[in-house]
Amino acid sequence: MKIMPNRLDRGFYLYQKEFEDKALEVLRSGWYVLGNEVKCFEEEFANYTGAKHCVGLASGLDALWIAFRILGIGKGDEVIVQSNTYIASVMGITINGATPVFVEPDEFYNIDASKIEEKITDKTKAILVVHLYGQSCKMDEVVALTKKYHLRLVEDCAQSHGAKFNNQMTGTFGDIGCFSFYPSKNLGAFGDAGAIVTNDEKIAEDFRVYRNYGSEKRYYNRVVGTNSRLDEIQAGLLRVRLSHMKELTEEKIAIAKRYDEGLHNSKIKLPTVREGATSIYHQYVIKCSERESLIQYLTEKEIGTIIHYPIPPHLSEAYAYLGYTTGDFPIAEDYADTVLSIPMYNGMTEEEQTFVINAINKF
Ligand SMILES: *Cc1c(COP(=O)(O)O)cnc(C)c1O
Repeated sequence: MKIMPNRLDRGFYLYQKEFEDKALEVLRSGWYVLGNEVKCFEEEFANYTGAKHCVGLASGLDALWIAFRILGIGKGDEVIVQSNTYIASVMGITINGATPVFVEPDEFYNIDASKIEEKITDKTKAILVVHLYGQSCKMDEVVALTKKYHLRLVEDCAQSHGAKFNNQMTGTFGDIGCFSFYPSKNLGAFGDAGAIVTNDEKIAEDFRVYRNYGSEKRYYNRVVGTNSRLDEIQAGLLRVRLSHMKELTEEKIAIAKRYDEGLHNSKIKLPTVREGATSIYHQYVIKCSERESLIQYLTEKEIGTIIHYPIPPHLSEAYAYLGYTTGDFPIAEDYADTVLSIPMYNGMTEEEQTFVINAINKF
């Protein structure tokens, strides 16, 4: 049996007719960018998260960098972010000329909130939390710090659609929640797409202006904006998927539970969820000090895996200019060397999962 790390086609076939009907409806409508589908999706996604406003954008990275731009954070400013995140989180900061200040992750692969305070300086303007792999960060502690030091709070929710902390949805704790709907995300489009949610009407308005060349009224430009508009077809397809988010999320949690219960191998550490937090399991990430031989072994059995992520941002070539070296963030570096995402996707069969479980247990 050949098992790929992810199967986006399965997610399509789950609701094939609805997706195809919606795509045809949009194609036939004659309106393709920023229209009624986008407006409806924004309302429905705001509702889903419990935020007052949602603004559709072209990608998750756009959500992040425009967020810092709108908050006026740039050259000379520092933004705190975890050291083991996907590089896009960091690019959202540095595209604006601001400096990322890395904080090591905890055992849940999220920012270690107890290590944030020591990194706050006069230049710190914001904290960017990343709810990595689908689990919420420890938001009570993070929010308390942003209040104490008057910092902005931006959430990278690219992997956490529907994950909660103390029953509150990620994306709604701070100024701006940034979402990606890249096809592999839990709420995925069929191409690139993104959005922000916020409770601040002014911020929502600024995003609307910014995403469309800084124009409020056609051909009258208030600021130097960008093109980060959301397509009607993506918004329409996202509406279809969003209407099934409850069962899609439950399915992923059920798959994770089967892994939790079925995997038994002393060489492998399973993921855990913090009290008060929930995970929507964007990835099911195990940790193994013999990762290379595990990958090799699983490859021989035709089981695909992915490393999220093999190089922490501070060691990435792109960030050589920050001047970090190996050993500066040992926890992030250890994770980069030992984590492994095993197959997990909507539409995964029990037979496929049993095959993966048996293989890993025999490693
Ligand atoms: C996917 C992702 C992004 C970027 O989203 P895009 O839509 O690909 O631009 C940002 N942060 C994290 C944590 C991600 O996983």
